[in-house]
Amino acid sequence: MTSSQTPFRFDNSFARDLPGFYVAWEGAKVPSPELILFNTALAEDLGLDGLHRETAGAAEILSGVTTPEGASPLAQVYAGHQFGGFSPQLGDGRALLIGEVLDQAGRRRDIQLKGSGPTPFSRGGDGKAVIGPVLREYVIAEAMHALGIPTTRALAAVTTGETVYRDGEKPGAVLTRAAASHLRIGTFQYFAARGETDKVGQLADYAIARHDPDLTGADDRYLHLLRRVVERQAALVARWMLVGFVHGVMNTDNTTISGETIDYGPCAFIDAYDPAAVFSSIDHGGRYAFGQQPSILQWNLARLAEALLALIAPDDPDGAVERASAELGRFADLYRTHWLTGMRAKLGLETEDPGDQELCETLLGLMQQQGVDHTLCFRRLGDAAAGAPDRFRDLFTDLPAIDAWLLDWRRRLKQEAAPDTDLKARMNRVNPLYIPRNHKVEEALSAAETGDYTFVRTLLEAVGSPYEERPGLEAYAEPAPAAFGPYQTFCGT
Ligand code: AMP
Ligand code: MG
Repeated sequence: MTSSQTPFRFDNSFARDLPGFYVAWEGAKVPSPELILFNTALAEDLGLDGLHRETAGAAEILSGVTTPEGASPLAQVYAGHQFGGFSPQLGDGRALLIGEVLDQAGRRRDIQLKGSGPTPFSRGGDGKAVIGPVLREYVIAEAMHALGIPTTRALAAVTTGETVYRDGEKPGAVLTRAAASHLRIGTFQYFAARGETDKVGQLADYAIARHDPDLTGADDRYLHLLRRVVERQAALVARWMLVGFVHGVMNTDNTTISGETIDYGPCAFIDAYDPAAVFSSIDHGGRYAFGQQPSILQWNLARLAEALLALIAPDDPDGAVERASAELGRFADLYRTHWLTGMRAKLGLETEDPGDQELCETLLGLMQQQGVDHTLCFRRLGDAAAGAPDRFRDLFTDLPAIDAWLLDWRRRLKQEAAPDTDLKARMNRVNPLYIPRNHKVEEALSAAETGDYTFVRTLLEAVGSPYEERPGLEAYAEPAPAAFGPYQTFCGT
């Protein structure tokens, strides 16, 4: 590809504005990059007019083998609390930010390659990625987006032609993702831990320009930045809880300033509703269990607050702590409000009643006791709303208990202003039918390891329109067969 044909109109603010926050670097050479998935709709959103599935040289660009005109590939530095312990030096050990573009809506988006080879931050790792985890991130990120949940996006997946050793030999692969930014809580922690307050300030001003431009120049802008991140992340984790998503590695380096879900590793959706659900093979203590996510997030936000303290009130450390604590203190209420608003919608409720929280919690309690599939339960509640409760009731073993709940729910629905003929349709717009179910994800990833991408494509089609029932996709709405057994996910790094 010649430079005049470059598909990206890069405008690289991070490279330009933040020297000292990254190392300029290039992707590794790999033998035979091949494009296996390409997200045409996203490419259009991003304004990448010249980049198509068939574009000559696309696989080379999207694996990091060639650097397109205008790119300024770099590895960002960051730190982070991993499973509660502080690592002062992490950084992009297997990723490169190749540049930023302005999308069709004028929003700045990072384009990042993941798995493009070692960098100065690889800490002994090989800098590579393999096909399974690359496709897991691709599928789950796109599913989350289709569910309406803020997330980084998957633009492409490329196999490299290399064999990479991970618990056996696996095909090497690179993911290209788009993100509102790759600023993490850990990015702030890196400079704060080194006492480089000026750099924390520079980073905060960059974050403000990018994510909260209305705060630019305001006196209290650092406190307000903290407030905004608390607000975005409270909204985000509520959305996770409403769809049964378990991130799996909620380290502070995997928590964004933008409020997007990032770094899909050993993540999974729950089948049976269970707050104790853990899928990651390395999460022995259940630190990042499904039900722990809101409180872990609050803990992570406290680490951001600490990193910003020296900026919040430079001459008044006690005052800074007090003001930051007040912001953190808003998290619990914000979270609960987002969650309850979402739960009301899942139950078909448009008004608010003081008993709603108990109504929701009673249902979740029954689901937990009886091992009920989370996704099917809410979806079939829509059928119950339309006068056909049998398939909803079939999910439960203790029928008197769920019938009593159904009575309470119907009574509550009657308080709504007008009888709603469209209730089921409205509920179906918030209760997905298709999520990336673990057994279907495994099926797709295993097939892909042997070079068969048909399963991953069908899975993407199903989860790409999660609310809309379509013939031929029945298997994607079913829970795992009993033989599938307990599910474990691996970081795959
Ligand atoms: P993660 O848990 O995937 O968010 O990654 C945590 C840290 O480990 C980041 O600094 C990554 O860049 C680094 N890392 C993960 N996998 C690799 C790898 N294969 N090679 C080098 N660094 C890696
Ligand atoms: Mg990470």
